[in-house]
Amino acid sequence: RQERYRALRDVAACTKDGQDVDLMMNAGLLVDLPQLEAAGAAGIGLFRTELQFMIASTMPKTSDQERLYSAVLDAAGGKPVTFRTLDIGGDKVLPYLHQSPEENPALGYRALRLALDRPGLMRTQLRALLKAAGGRELRVMFPMVTDLNELRQARDLISREFKHLTRFGHVMPRRLKLGAMIEVPSLLFQLDELMQLVDFVSIGSNDLFQFFSAVDRGNAQIAGRFDDLSTPFMRALREILDAAKRNSVSATLCGEMAGRPISAMALIGLGFRSISMTSASIGPVKAMLVELDAEALNRRITAHLAEKHPKQTFRQLLEEFAAAN
Ligand code: PEP
Ligand code: MG
Repeated sequence: RQERYRALRDVAACTKDGQDVDLMMNAGLLVDLPQLEAAGAAGIGLFRTELQFMIASTMPKTSDQERLYSAVLDAAGGKPVTFRTLDIGGDKVLPYLHQSPEENPALGYRALRLALDRPGLMRTQLRALLKAAGGRELRVMFPMVTDLNELRQARDLISREFKHLTRFGHVMPRRLKLGAMIEVPSLLFQLDELMQLVDFVSIGSNDLFQFFSAVDRGNAQIAGRFDDLSTPFMRALREILDAAKRNSVSATLCGEMAGRPISAMALIGLGFRSISMTSASIGPVKAMLVELDAEALNRRITAHLAEKHPKQTFRQLLEEFAAAN
């Protein structure tokens, strides 16, 4: 199998019926970067910037952050890299950042919520990103967006830093693309408004499914209880894709489901043309992809999602399709 995946590395990520799909990888540290080449990833769809903060014993300085981001862009050598701003709080604690104990940390003071309250932290990071990407494309996305004002504030922060650095003569990115992670169900009911504010969206399906189904993503006792390959969750993902298309915004998904071949099959059948996963999953997902008739699966899925009383579960549909093809 390992041999087969290696052999697939230089094969185009294209379905049997000719649809190109960007198979991107998730990363967070310098040690992940050699995998870009080794796995044949199309780029980094999610760079988790909090990892640098989590392994440090004190707050990383702006210069340390800038050096890491710059090394990541160098290693990517022109392939797209999407940096996610700090996603701390919840289960990701920094020993040197005082946080009050919370009863429900996943629903608590975390990610963009914390960042907007402590703009010093976020501004430092945005400055490091803008400087590191001087003369190149910079893609930045914000985690755990719940309402659109948070996104407006985050956009304001980055444009202020951009102007500030420009005034001081720094070379700024050639192009700046801003995105939101869709992880909180409130965004599902304001998709068109959301799309007006971004260049791209990236679905954090780990958190989106956690909040969608009210199931703690870290609790093994209930982890398998509800299926993320379910009709309602797939309807939610389809709504996102439709809204993205209506508004000419690109949409991708970077949660763990992207790396499971059967789920990745569902995502491509739904209409995703870019997904991001751990590098080790790229081989197995590509092996599935090159055998997939995406258009045929898309027809099956579209008919299923429109049914008032589906005769089978979504997972059954997938298994049936996989067995017949
Ligand atoms: C997600 O929630 O799906 C995601 C990609 O972010 P993280 O796993 O880092 O919360
Ligand atoms: Mg998340």
